[in-house]
Amino acid sequence: MSLANGRAYLAIPGPSVMPDRVLAAMHRAAPNIYEGDLHRMVEGLWPDLKAVACTRQNVAIYIANGHGAWEAANANLFSRGDRALVLACGRFGIGWAESARAMGVSAEVLDFGKSSPVDLSRVEAALKADRAHELKAVLLTHVDTSSSIRTDVAAVRQLLDTLGHPALLAVDCIASLGCDEYRMDDWGVDLTVAASQKGLMTPPGLGFVWFSDRAKERCRDSDLRTPYWDWTPRAGAREFYQNFNGTAPTHHLFGLREALSMIAEEGLEQVWARHDALARAVWAAFDAWGAGNSEIGLNVADPAFRGRSVTAARLGAPHASRLREWTEHRGGVTLGIGLGMALPSEPAYHGFLRVAHMGHVNAHMTLGALAVMEAGMVALGIPHGPGALAAAAGVIGKAASPLASAY
Ligand SMILES: *Cc1c(COP(=O)(O)O)cnc(C)c1O
Repeated sequence: MSLANGRAYLAIPGPSVMPDRVLAAMHRAAPNIYEGDLHRMVEGLWPDLKAVACTRQNVAIYIANGHGAWEAANANLFSRGDRALVLACGRFGIGWAESARAMGVSAEVLDFGKSSPVDLSRVEAALKADRAHELKAVLLTHVDTSSSIRTDVAAVRQLLDTLGHPALLAVDCIASLGCDEYRMDDWGVDLTVAASQKGLMTPPGLGFVWFSDRAKERCRDSDLRTPYWDWTPRAGAREFYQNFNGTAPTHHLFGLREALSMIAEEGLEQVWARHDALARAVWAAFDAWGAGNSEIGLNVADPAFRGRSVTAARLGAPHASRLREWTEHRGGVTLGIGLGMALPSEPAYHGFLRVAHMGHVNAHMTLGALAVMEAGMVALGIPHGPGALAAAAGVIGKAASPLASAY
């Protein structure tokens, strides 16, 4: 018997769950792109888009996914032959470096592996070795979605300042924006990239680049820029079409408008706190399961370096793949594959999975996903320690504020 019917939950971790409000906002006839409602709506989008990244500076919207947003960042930051230092803690850090290299940037990768956070002493050594200050930018991933490692962005800024190194600081927040605490201006970030389909709860199709006035100035003559990717007209459009270098992505924009309203209504700090509590519930469950089976465990040992929107874990091969299959077809919860941990052709691949807790998710969704996972372990005979669901519920119970009850 299957118990998967009912509303399915996609926890893979991106695209993420799309709120009905976002979907409803997109369900409309094609708007006039020359005047009227669309123009007024987009006018109001800019301040909210800046607010979600905690910046007062500049932002450009692209019709693109995350890879497109990387390319937009590269095109505006660099000239052919420029040097960059890339801090990689998983597949996505490497991916940004590959994108930059393919465009002619000399990108040096500091690879910290798949389970370890950025080692600042290695970054310091690399920056000190660059006596001529040739490195134009340091690129890093705030939360690497493959490993779920979170990088301390402010610490990297502090290191640059302490060493007096002028490199621009560029951060991939595709998996963390609208989930994990992120303060672009306070943390001295020069460039932030994100996309619509993760914490921003909107279908894939919009890429964003926020950039500092300093980056705008320092990158004025970057020669990798082509007309479509140039952020200059997009961030300072005189004509409406310049915002998008052509036809606006009309329905995505109406969806994004609704998603940003939802974030503003809840409050960004509350959004971060919700993700923090849900993440800690997932970690508590894995700790309990792992106490009865040493093959089960979280990918990142130190909670300080764990992302709050996604959790990468191991279950021992082939249990992770078997469990994913079971939760999807018997429980209605689709979990994420273990991305970048092993090749799909290798047996080890089937030992890894990821649980998303990203965007439009609440206590019952995360607790439900964990309970379905445990049901699957029971059904499949995967050994696991007891008490995981009670531990997860305990985290949620402690995190939620008391209610002024009427009863
Ligand atoms: C999802 C993701 C990307 C890639 O985004 P696409 O839309 O798949 O191109 C890049 N970086 C991070 C951190 C991501 O989570």
